Amino acid sequence: MTPDQQQARRNPRKTLWLLLFVAIAITLFIITPGCSVQLAGQRVPAHVLEADPDAFNVADDVAVLHYYGVGGWGVQWRGEYLLMAPYFSNHGFLGFYADQGPDIEAVIAGVNNTPFSEAGLILVGHGHVDHAADIPSYHAAGLTTDQAGVIANSTTLNMLASIMPPNERFRCAEAPTTDGVPINDCSLAGFRITPLSSAHAPNVEILGKSFTVSEGTVDQPQHTIPQSPADYLLGATWAYLVDLLDADGNVVFRIHYMDAVAGAAESHVPAELLAERDIDVHIACVPGFNYVDRYPEWVIEQGNTGYVLMGHWEDFFRSREKRLKPVTLVLSEGKLNDFAERVEDVMPAGQNRSRPVNKSTDDCPADSEKCGPRGESWALPVPGETYHFRP
Ligand SMILES: [Zn+2]
Repeated sequence: MTPDQQQARRNPRKTLWLLLFVAIAITLFIITPGCSVQLAGQRVPAHVLEADPDAFNVADDVAVLHYYGVGGWGVQWRGEYLLMAPYFSNHGFLGFYADQGPDIEAVIAGVNNTPFSEAGLILVGHGHVDHAADIPSYHAAGLTTDQAGVIANSTTLNMLASIMPPNERFRCAEAPTTDGVPINDCSLAGFRITPLSSAHAPNVEILGKSFTVSEGTVDQPQHTIPQSPADYLLGATWAYLVDLLDADGNVVFRIHYMDAVAGAAESHVPAELLAERDIDVHIACVPGFNYVDRYPEWVIEQGNTGYVLMGHWEDFFRSREKRLKPVTLVLSEGKLNDFAERVEDVMPAGQNRSRPVNKSTDDCPADSEKCGPRGESWALPVPGETYHFRP
C-alpha cells in the first residue's frame, strides 16, 4: 500500500477522532486537578523530579532502572546503557492532528543528569506517538550518531526510515519477526533482548465503546518522519524480555517490559524461557489494565514475577511542567489503587523475590517529594526517579 493509500484509509476515521479529542480537551478544561494523588495512603509527588546524577555512579553489580516517564526507561548495567524509548514532548489533545515535531527543549531537559547520550540500544514496543515521536530528536539531546541501535516494529522503522540506517543517525535497526527468539545483531554485550509478540488494549473506553488511536501499519520506508502525533501508527505490538548478563553470558537478572496493556490470551512468556529464569521485575503499563483479562495477574503468575514497577501512569497529554496526575479518562487514583491491590493479592507481602535496594525509609521518608509510593511488591515511579536492584 502506498503512503497516499494509507493516508486515504485513515481519513474517514479522522473526523470521529477529532470530535472525540475536542470533547476530551473541553473536559480537561472543566476538570481542574487540584489536590495530590494518594496511593496506598502515600502521597504521589506533585511534579516530575530532576534526575540525580549520583544515582548512576554505582558498582558494576547494581542494575540501575531510571524512569523517564510514560513508557520511557533507562537501564544501566555493567557500563552499558539501554533505553526504552522515552517521550517528553507531551503534544496534547488539541494538537493531536496538527503538524508538529518533537519539543527539543523538553527532550533535553528530560534526559538531563542521566547517561542518555551513552545509550547503545533503544527498544520500542509499538509505533504510537508516546513511544516513537521523540526518537528523531534524540541526537539533539546528545545521543551521538552511529553508537545506538534501534529495535522496533517494522511500522516504526518505516515511519522513521529517514533517520534509520543506512542514514547516519543510528548504528543498526532491527524489526522483531520471531516471538521468543533473542535479537543478536543490534544488542549489547551485557544484555540479551528477546521480543515477545503482544497486543495493545484500547486507548480508552467511553460509554461501553472502545477506541484505539492511530491503528494501522506503514509497510514501506518513508522519506520524511510523520507530521502529526496522529500519524504515528501502532503497527505490531511487542513486549520484551531484557536479560542482564554476567561476564560469562549467564542471565543474572530478568526484566519483562510492556509498553501497552495486553490480556492473558494475547500475550505470554514462553515456558522454555521461564525455565531458564523467572521474571525479576515487570515494568508494567498501567493505563487500560481494566480493559483486558487478568492483567497484571497473568504476568506475575506466569513469570513468578518478583516485583512490579507501575509505569506509564501519568498524563502525557499535559506539559511535564504541570502537576502530575493519572492519564485523563483512562486512569484515576482509584484505579491506581486497584492495580496495586491486585499486584499484592497475587504476590502477597514476603513473596516478592526482588526489591529495590535504594528505597528504604531512610532513603525515602514518608511522603517524600523524591520518591513515589511503594509497597512490598510494587512501586509507582515518579518521572525522574531511579531504582537500584542488586541481582
Ligand atoms: Zn499505544
